[in-house]
This record gives sequence, structure tokens and C-alpha cells, in this order.
Amino acid sequence: MIEIEDNVIKQECGICNHITHIKLTDDELEAYRWYLAGGGPIQECLPTLNRVEREFLKSGYCVKCQKLLFDNGETKRLY
Ligand SMILES: [Zn+2]
Repeated sequence: MIEIEDNVIKQECGICNHITHIKLTDDELEAYRWYLAGGGPIQECLPTLNRVEREFLKSGYCVKCQKLLFDNGETKRLY
């Protein structure tokens, strides 16, 4: 389930149940809402995020599980 409060997106990883957050800028949040509404591929809606950050928004998977599943790289924005 996705929770949004004060520009912070919070989701629970469906694999390990770890809770991960990302704080978006106002522009990114607007783009994210556009994406959720079917506005297009996430990489086009949110080009300022990297692969790990975008995958988190799509699936909720935490950094550790993404590392195991996709080797998606590092992030400084997920916490
Ligand atoms: Zn996980």
C-alpha cells in the first residue's frame, strides 16, 4: 500500500516487509501522481530518479531485495 505525506512516499516491501521512504520534490510528486493516473512509463514521468528509486515507486521493493532481484544499483534517496 502506498502512503503519501508531506512529499514522502512510504511503501512496504512485498518480499521482506521492510518499510522504505523517498522524499520527492513538488515537481516529482506531481509527475508521480501523473504516472499513477496512467500518464506513461515511469522512466518518462520521473527522469530525475534512478532505476532503484523508480522500481521502488513501481513495486515497493526495498533496496536490498532489488539488489538480489535485479542488481539495480545504488541510491542516495531511499531510506
Ligand atoms: Zn525487501
